Amino acid sequence: MKLLFTASEAYPLIKTGGLADVAGSLPEVLRQSGVDVRLLLPAYADLLDSIDTVPATVVEMDLAGQEVRILETRLPDTPLVTWLVDHPLLSGRPGNPYHDAQGIPWPDNAERFMLLSRAAAQISCGHSDLDWRPDVLHCNDWHTGPAIALAKMDERCPLTVFTIHNLAHMGLFDRDTFNRLQLPEQLWSDDALEFYDNCSFLKGGLVYADYITTVSPGYAEEICYAPGGMGLEGLLGARRDRLVGILNGIDAGTWNPATDAYIEQHYDAASLDAKALNKSALQQSLGLAERTDQPLLGFVGRLAEQKGLELMLPVLEQILELPAQLVFLGTGETDYEQGLQVLADTHPRAIAVVLAYNESLAHRIEAGADIFLMPSLFEPCGLNQLYSLRYGTLPLVRAVGGLADTVVDADAEAVANGTATGFVFRKPGPGDFLAAVQRACQHWRDRDGWRALQLTAMAQDFSWQQSAERYIELYRSAVN
Ligand code: ADP
Repeated sequence: MKLLFTASEAYPLIKTGGLADVAGSLPEVLRQSGVDVRLLLPAYADLLDSIDTVPATVVEMDLAGQEVRILETRLPDTPLVTWLVDHPLLSGRPGNPYHDAQGIPWPDNAERFMLLSRAAAQISCGHSDLDWRPDVLHCNDWHTGPAIALAKMDERCPLTVFTIHNLAHMGLFDRDTFNRLQLPEQLWSDDALEFYDNCSFLKGGLVYADYITTVSPGYAEEICYAPGGMGLEGLLGARRDRLVGILNGIDAGTWNPATDAYIEQHYDAASLDAKALNKSALQQSLGLAERTDQPLLGFVGRLAEQKGLELMLPVLEQILELPAQLVFLGTGETDYEQGLQVLADTHPRAIAVVLAYNESLAHRIEAGADIFLMPSLFEPCGLNQLYSLRYGTLPLVRAVGGLADTVVDADAEAVANGTATGFVFRKPGPGDFLAAVQRACQHWRDRDGWRALQLTAMAQDFSWQQSAERYIELYRSAVN
């Protein structure tokens, strides 16, 4: 089985969020399971800089009048063949793949990701000089949605699969942009890419893919109804028989407290006492008081409404009074950044705020914190709660999407039968969030009870193997 897997980012080559974690690990696990995989990514300037050896040019292609080169490299530390779409629109600009330093989307994003999509469609339908053509084209999120629409118009289209990692990002562009892209006029229709007088790249995947997958069973259900469907619930509900929720896995090599290269002290379930050294190292490095008698609560993620900032910000000072300490790592909306910074300036020994993207610190927070906060308003899958489980850092989550699918609340029954792995609350309000934090901190004070919860959390297996099998089953059954 030959598979072309395409996305706009893949760890460790380029990462801004969870999509990169998935695109950097699932294809390699599929390859190890016997699938002949090629990963297709944009050849961003920063990505090319990060590769040691100069990638080889495989072919040159003409995409709607634009000459691109396809460069070949390997995903670092793996034999996975990775193709990079090289054109000045993608390669000529350092920095974030999607926006400038102020967070404003690049003005030519439609052209840039259409180029990636056209490359994927052409390769999939055998219109390139590459000596390789897939049985399955697997696209991810809005950046590659048009690839499926374009491939479907070709009689040599392979099986197509589209994965929704986050429905909130629809890749919307106006009619003038649509015209500039020189797409077939038939795509400007409610049954195609049009979405309320705009063109949605995401709809290319949702309307045309043979199968739609999303990253947890819970989210697959939520998006078929309002408000989770964000206006697309009609379309998704109508395609329910082609929509499958497959839980994301984690890269169990990168996220492993027993081998993690970023953390102060390695530990596992048998040496859990050593976790405390990571807490004190983290407190020290962030200027927090080195207290062992207070729980340390961590957050890593985009500072966006989705991640529950409106629930957290109003009650953070009350959390400090419990007492507890807090650490926030993230970048995002200015109001949230400022709100957090003011609190950190007021209570520098109790709350640390790092407004940056910092892979190493993300690992050190997973290892050093006691409780991980993820009170998202919606969450397609969420990866940080899975990392937290593995690190014995109990996740505190809202009962939505993949969070509800992966964390078992420490209610009396689950504690009694040994299945509890974290703290789950329902209503999206600061009061409910605070109550869950209070409850978690109470549990933390019961050292033996806490240890039991940590051991159950660390015993959960969210590695890719099972989920990769489900993708393979889907490809196989569909191709056959
Ligand atoms: P999303 O994809 O919605 O941003 P996920 O929980 O699925 O959220 O994945 C987020 C990924 O990005 C995780 O691997 C997380 O550690 C990482 N991440 C997010 N923000 C930062 C940051 N500021 N520094 C380091 N890693 C980050």
